[in-house]
Amino acid sequence: MILKILQEPHKILRETAQEIKPEEIKSKGLQDLLKDMSQTLAAIDIGVGLAAPQVGKPLRIFLVSEEALAAKRDKRQTQKNWKHLVFINPEITRRSREKELLSEGCLSADKLYGRIERAKRVVVQAYNEEGKKFRRSASGLFAQVIQHETDHLNGILFIDKAKNLKRLDEKAENGADEN
Ligand SMILES: [Zn+2]
Repeated sequence: MILKILQEPHKILRETAQEIKPEEIKSKGLQDLLKDMSQTLAAIDIGVGLAAPQVGKPLRIFLVSEEALAAKRDKRQTQKNWKHLVFINPEITRRSREKELLSEGCLSADKLYGRIERAKRVVVQAYNEEGKKFRRSASGLFAQVIQHETDHLNGILFIDKAKNLKRLDEKAENGADEN
């Protein structure tokens, strides 16, 4: 089922999302939500990440498309069936001191883009959809998306921190990804 994406200023987007009990991960309710979130993300061409609060569920869950790991970003035109990585109760345990100013957008802030400072590399730990704890390091777009989605779980939107916010009708002008 494709879920509706909430738009700013919806109040759920501003809540601190709740942790999931690890034993609930395999429950039907949670597995159905993961499936619906994945279908929703797959249905959006420009989306590379989706957090549960964006679909009205204030829970500490987000998905990142493996598209964010693809080395060549121009491949996105041809490949559609990206896998989605599931992060439940994610925690960024390390952020590089080195930062980058990056272009960013958000599915919950339609057509707004801006420049935002993000750590170049992060280490994140979380549970996956099978309830297994994992840790991975990320750089580039993948690291950016993880930071963006983690902010969603804390009620923070990129527009709170971005510089040069602009409303664009043509996403092609900017080339930013939405999360
Ligand atoms: Zn977002």
